[in-house]
Amino acid sequence: MKACEELRDIYGIEDCPECHCATGDDTEYKDFSNKYIVVCAQCGHEWDTRDLDEVKMGKLKTRVFDLYKGKFKNITELAKAMGISPGHAYKVQQGKRRVNQKFIIGVMKVFPGCLDDYFYID
Ligand SMILES: [Zn+2]
Repeated sequence: MKACEELRDIYGIEDCPECHCATGDDTEYKDFSNKYIVVCAQCGHEWDTRDLDEVKMGKLKTRVFDLYKGKFKNITELAKAMGISPGHAYKVQQGKRRVNQKFIIGVMKVFPGCLDDYFYID
């Protein structure tokens, strides 16, 4: 697994908190013997994946796939309204991708109101 894929798929991180660049193929592990540290290629920001432990964070889950049906025909329409790709939405639904910031913002745009209705910690 590439460093950028680990950040995105396991921890839901798609950009650097320091320089706000998107994490891509140039995002690397600090070195081969230390795969806990991932380094931003643009600014050198380091993520320590031990701090990103899923257990510590809890898993953020969404009910949006149960609640969208009164408003949208299907997930593709929902995704378009949220400003994310349908593939992204399907992966979250299937549990292959975690809920991330972009997804949450999308839900807030489409369903303004109480986030508690749409998200919960597992
Ligand atoms: Zn950076």
